[in-house]
Amino acid sequence: MISIEEKLYIGGEWSAPVSKKKIDIFSASTGEKIGIVPEASQADVDAAVAAARKALHSKEWGGLNGAERGLILNRFADAVEKRGNQLAKSVSMQNGMPLIMSEQLESGFVVGMLRYYAALATSLVDEERRQSPLGFSTLVRRERIGVVGAIVPWNFPVALSIMKIGPALAAGCAVVIKPSPETVLDCYILAEAAEEAGVPPGALNWVPGGRDIGAYLVTHPGVDKIAFTGSTAAGRAIAQECGRILRPVSLELGGKSAAIILEDADLGSFLQAIPSVSMLNSGQACFSCTRILAPTSRYQEVVDGVASVISSLPIGDPLEPSTVVGPMVTSAHRDRVESYIAKGKTEAKLVLGGGRPKHLDRGWYVEPTVFAGVSNSSTIAQEEIFGPVITVIEYKDDSDALAIANDSQYGLGGSIWTPDIERATNLARKLETGTVGINGYLPDFNAPFGGVKASGLGRELGPESVSAYQQYKSIYLMG
Ligand code: NAD
Repeated sequence: MISIEEKLYIGGEWSAPVSKKKIDIFSASTGEKIGIVPEASQADVDAAVAAARKALHSKEWGGLNGAERGLILNRFADAVEKRGNQLAKSVSMQNGMPLIMSEQLESGFVVGMLRYYAALATSLVDEERRQSPLGFSTLVRRERIGVVGAIVPWNFPVALSIMKIGPALAAGCAVVIKPSPETVLDCYILAEAAEEAGVPPGALNWVPGGRDIGAYLVTHPGVDKIAFTGSTAAGRAIAQECGRILRPVSLELGGKSAAIILEDADLGSFLQAIPSVSMLNSGQACFSCTRILAPTSRYQEVVDGVASVISSLPIGDPLEPSTVVGPMVTSAHRDRVESYIAKGKTEAKLVLGGGRPKHLDRGWYVEPTVFAGVSNSSTIAQEEIFGPVITVIEYKDDSDALAIANDSQYGLGGSIWTPDIERATNLARKLETGTVGINGYLPDFNAPFGGVKASGLGRELGPESVSAYQQYKSIYLMG
């Protein structure tokens, strides 16, 4: 049991929270209470925003150039790398992500991202002089946007925080991060890393809390931009508030991505990739390809192959190195997933799973589940289930596959499987989505990641992400 009762990391210091309220942290795999942390109050958020504003105007942070910020980001990467195992374990203990995944995605991937942003900070060009067609010249400046309110979910708590912290610090912003109440212990490890790395006071601050504290941060007068990852419903509510007060906002939201298996695909390589492409974090990943589109000629072969691979995936304790499928994050979330499975039983043919694993008598587990004979218009094909539930949908030809894949309110990920890269690339160009993988799927640090339609607004990752934390200023040099 980890008890962090009396401290919040605000303004580069461990300060006592104003509120006496606490957040209990539970293990998704046992249901037991494993930690207790303070819940930030509005007064704590006020203090964090004030510290961030102060940092913007301080010599130690606001006075640095890109190269100097790059050095700090690199030191932060070193300190995070030292704590890589601790971070991965902490995430797995809380949200139930299998350790083999958290070791990569919540640890190694995160350090890589920080180093990427360190290099980017060093190469940023802040000012460009342009000749105006009107006869004078103009200095075009890219200035940091200011204080960023970052709100993240529980499914990849570290990576999704760093996807905001990296570009924001590269641009010279200061950040107030509100983690999800299900996953807060990892934040304390990141805060210790920031302290050890000498991240200047106020550049990074954490305010653990629920929706109310998130909503308070969204409209806080001292915040200049909101960077949100979470559900489409919450994203819409946040966008509405940001629209009302004209506050820049970027939104990484839900998804219901399609994996299109072309008739010449090497099915074996797709099946091998299923744990990462369609079942990542036990299906609790926004870009998971949970709609598998199979051609009529190979439909049964795909259904049988998918069911056979999924039935063989080890399910159990996320801290066991062999585990590939862990629990759902909370019992409430398991209820939600199970209600979709119940709905699916009325809409399609249940091929595998559908219940709770018999050998696990505690924790929030759901059997990996496969539905066949699924219509793309059914609820289980249209709504984000966010659990280990796969639908296999039949298509006639490439244009039918494209129409089915695009017939979704979402547009975040997707994948196409075929040895014919040109054909796949042409199809990828026509998919209404922010990212597509060909014969695999993995977000690239050096390329924009994000969604279209109900999957969000704006992009993270890649050099493009830094501009989301900057604003332009034009200085007309007229005399
Ligand atoms: P959620 O929207 O319920 O919560 C996400 C975060 O927002 C939490 O910190 C929560 O406390 C906060 N929050 C909720 N409502 C808020 C409000 N009105 N104002 C301010 N803050 C608010 O989502 P979740 O259940 O934690 O996460 C799962 C969702 O996140 C899924 O829909 C998933 O697809 C999405 N997600 C998207 C991406 C992406 O990159 N597109 C990545 C991971 C997860």
